[in-house]
Amino acid sequence: MAERVVIIGSGPAGWTAAIYAARASLEPLVIEGAITEENRQQGTLPLGQLALTTEVENFPGFPVADLAAYLDNAIDPKKRRYMAPHAGQGVSGPELMELMRQQAVNFGARILTDDVVEIDLSSHPFSMKTLGGEQIEALSVIVATGARANYLGLKSEERFKNAGVSACAVCDGALPRFRDKPLVVVGGGDSAMEEATFLTKFGSVVYVVHRRDKLRASKIMAERALANEKIRVKWNSVVDEVLGNETDGVNGVRIRSTVDTDETEELEAAGYFAAIGHTPNTSFLSGQLETNKKGYVVWTTPARTYTSVEGVFAAGDVADDYYRQAVTAAGTGCMAALDAERWLAAKGLE
Ligand code: NAP
Repeated sequence: MAERVVIIGSGPAGWTAAIYAARASLEPLVIEGAITEENRQQGTLPLGQLALTTEVENFPGFPVADLAAYLDNAIDPKKRRYMAPHAGQGVSGPELMELMRQQAVNFGARILTDDVVEIDLSSHPFSMKTLGGEQIEALSVIVATGARANYLGLKSEERFKNAGVSACAVCDGALPRFRDKPLVVVGGGDSAMEEATFLTKFGSVVYVVHRRDKLRASKIMAERALANEKIRVKWNSVVDEVLGNETDGVNGVRIRSTVDTDETEELEAAGYFAAIGHTPNTSFLSGQLETNKKGYVVWTTPARTYTSVEGVFAAGDVADDYYRQAVTAAGTGCMAALDAERWLAAKGLE
């Protein structure tokens, strides 16, 4: 029996689509992603990028407050047991995602902890295969697989992954190897500011290496980071090489000036964190949906979540390289579920 709605992805877009589809009695199946080392390294584990952040201060409905009792009440105790202690500062990314997941479960969404590795959108019902070997047919599909962090592409980054190189300060920053040591963050956007600020809790000094003389980050995030006495910005610079050895992992970086390209400097550092933007998670689609030049799925009709294949809808960061916010992802997740429900009804497939 074909599923009526399969939702691929488990960030704010996926769970919001699941809540709406479940409430419309469509019994959605959410394929939330597999728990694998590859997904951990890429930042594509279940619950998406918000699960890799700290406090979420801009998701409406969560002013700064102590939510411990609410979290204990709302979330399945079996899940709650494995969550980090609540910080009492409003909602954290992982907490918000667990709340969304629980809300979807409460309305009857079914969850498969697996990755879609192959999908055929050329005939209907659509069919897909998972890493765990499941074959699934679907009358409609909502793609909500989000995006993942980019690296510079240096061989030395690859060499020292898990040995001082990371694209997620929040996941890895507290590791003993980074304690009281100089650390490096590459990038000049909000992610770089957030990561650098977070890392000041652990490192002795945090260098932000940025290729221009002006930050891309929002004013509030930039001001917060620049006011932090542990943060030093290396302006007009790029990381040329991550330095280290097999025993210690990362022990420094070589940076090169973007103004005078002969000028290099070596910085001692125990950690290197890339914060230079994102790539949408679309490889499993094998080019079957139209994408833009950055690889994001294209919404083919204004103000709708339709894609280039009828019956396939896209929501969240996988189709949004502009807003990229939790609340906008949730909003388009809601739209995708409504679009799927209406499309199924129009086709008599409900
Ligand atoms: P971003 O805004 O695209 O910034 C990427 C940064 O990396 C830019 O400064 C860019 O330099 C630099 N960069 C890109 N490729 C590079 C390369 N090959 N070598 C050196 N530097 C490179 O990405 P983001 O910071 O991940 O933010 C993405 C979105 O998420 C934004 O809308 C942001 O507001 C949002 N966000 C919000 C929060 C928050 O509110 N808490 C936190 C994180 C992210 P240039 O400036 O020279 O292009």
